[in-house]
Amino acid sequence: MLKGKTALVTGSTSGIGLGIAKALAAQGANIVMNGFGDVDGPKAEVAAFGVKVAYHGADMSKPAEIEAMITYAAEQFGRVDILVNNAGIQHVARIENFPIERWDAIIAINLSSAFHATRAALPAMQTAGWGRIINVASVHGLVASAEKSAYVTAKHGVVGLTKVTALENATTGVTCNAICPGWVLTPLVQKQVDAKAATLGISNDEAKKLLLGEKEPSLQFTTPEELGALAVFFCSPAGNNVRGVAWNMDGGWVAQ
Ligand code: NAD
Repeated sequence: MLKGKTALVTGSTSGIGLGIAKALAAQGANIVMNGFGDVDGPKAEVAAFGVKVAYHGADMSKPAEIEAMITYAAEQFGRVDILVNNAGIQHVARIENFPIERWDAIIAINLSSAFHATRAALPAMQTAGWGRIINVASVHGLVASAEKSAYVTAKHGVVGLTKVTALENATTGVTCNAICPGWVLTPLVQKQVDAKAATLGISNDEAKKLLLGEKEPSLQFTTPEELGALAVFFCSPAGNNVRGVAWNMDGGWVAQ
C-alpha cells in the first residue's frame, strides 16, 4: 500500500517508534530512522521487510539538526511523505522537585521537535498534494497524572499542534493526527516499573500489575505492533478524511 513512499520516524531505534517503522515498512514504505542507542540492530529489523532504510542521528532537542534530518531524508529518497513525530522522554517528580533542565528537555524533545519537523517537512507534502503527519502523543495528551508536569504539558501541546496542523491543511491531501497510547512496555515505561518495584520492595511482575491496575482497566499493555497498525490506517485511503483526531489506544484509561 505504501510502496514508493518514504516515512521518517523519529525515535525509531526503540519501542513504539520501531514498531511503527516496521509496520510502515511492511506496507512497502522506505524508512528514515532516527534515535539514540544501538542503530544497526533496529535498522536490520526494518530492512528485513525488503525496503530501503536510512538513518539520521539528529538530536530532537536541536532545531538545526531536525532541519538537517528532513533535508537528508529528501536527499536519500526524494521527499518525506509520512512524518511520524515519536521521539520522547519522561521524568517523574512533583513540580516543586522537578529539575528545570528535565522540564526544558521534555518540552524540547516531546513537543517542540514535532513543530520543527512538521515545519520543515510540510512544504514538500503540500507541493506533492499528499502527506501524512502522525504525532505520537499519549493518554497524557488528554488527561493528567501527578508527578508528570512536563510530560503532560508537552503531550497536551502535541494534541493542540496536531489539530492546528490538520486545520491548516484541511483542504489538501495532507492529514495530521495523533496517537495516544496508554501503557506500552518499552524502556521508557520499564524505568517506571523498576522505580515502583524498588520503592515498594516488590517484584517486577507485581510492579507491572500495580502500574496497569492504577490506570488501565484492560490490565494489558498496548503493543508497538498495535500502534503500528493504527499508523498504517492513518496512511491508508480510508484515512483520507481523518483530520485532527487524538486517537487513544489505552485499554479504557480515558473512558473512566
Ligand atoms: P523508548 O524509550 O523505547 O523510545 C524513545 C525513542 O526516542 C528512542 O529511539 C530514543 O533513542 C529516542 N530519543 C530520545 N531522546 C531523543 C533525542 N533527544 N533525539 C532523538 N531521539 C531521541 O520510548 P517509547 O515508549 O517507545 O516512547 C516513544 C513515544 O511514545 C514517546 O513520545 C512517548 O512519550 C510516547 N508514549 C509512550 C508510552 C509508553 O507507555 N511507553 C505511552 C504513551 C506515549
